[in-house]
Amino acid sequence: MEIGVVTYEPKSIKGFDINIYYVKRADGTVFQPAEQMLNDVTCFCDAKAIRKNPSIVAISKDGPALRNNRKVNMPWDYLCPTDEEYKKQLLELIDDLGRRTQGVILNLYHFPEEGFCTCSRCQKLWRNSGLDWTTWRVKTVTDFIEEAKSRVKGIFATEVWPDPVLSKERFGVDFWQIAKYIDFFHVPLSASDYTTMYWVDMLTRIFTRTMQKPVYIELSAELLNEIKLEALLKTMAYVSRHNVKGIFLLVHDTNNAEQICSYAVQNRELQKWFEVHGFYKMLEVIEKWKEFY
Ligand SMILES: [Zn+2]
Repeated sequence: MEIGVVTYEPKSIKGFDINIYYVKRADGTVFQPAEQMLNDVTCFCDAKAIRKNPSIVAISKDGPALRNNRKVNMPWDYLCPTDEEYKKQLLELIDDLGRRTQGVILNLYHFPEEGFCTCSRCQKLWRNSGLDWTTWRVKTVTDFIEEAKSRVKGIFATEVWPDPVLSKERFGVDFWQIAKYIDFFHVPLSASDYTTMYWVDMLTRIFTRTMQKPVYIELSAELLNEIKLEALLKTMAYVSRHNVKGIFLLVHDTNNAEQICSYAVQNRELQKWFEVHGFYKMLEVIEKWKEFY
């Protein structure tokens, strides 16, 4: 099992096989690419671009896809994925990253929810396509993934909003179609802690059994106290029992990741618990960390 890290610092961290940097974020900030890492790009959530040009926001009958619109439940501000000007700039960024870095991971590359987008351009594109609404939305998203893939030489992957059942209807994301273009699915199962984790086990089981490409599960590993750290490491162990290609830890920075590695390396009691219960893949990860921490 591989172990990776997703970080807000453009710096690879010892003891991790895969290093991912958030190069473009949902607030619209774009940082310098991290050439020795995989670069994660937030596609159609861009608060800065929407502030600059409010007409690009995605629209529904319940109003815009904005966090302050209480009729819709949006974690971010989404813009319309058929806006040609924005899409052109985004593809230029992906093109640049695709040539200069180890690879690109896309996130939020889809429609915000069911009922989006009803802007006049989307309505027109849909009608002209001759397709039904769901098929048109899936085609719009899949075509974008195909176009992005053609710009990337190295590794190419997509994050997944972790809804294994309704992603097609909600977001226009058809996992089977996207699988053709990507090296793996990156599934973030975010939480402030994993003291309750049955849902992580359940979603990991579903995604590893249904996806057509390798699956990496991302767990949140920021701002940990000892209880949260112990719960995180045990959750990693349970995830490792499934057919995952690897686990990514979302950390704030290098210190944060090193804290996790050191804790696992020094905690003999926890290692014993992994041994007794046969969590061998987890013990292999800790062995790897022992070289550095
Ligand atoms: Zn639209």
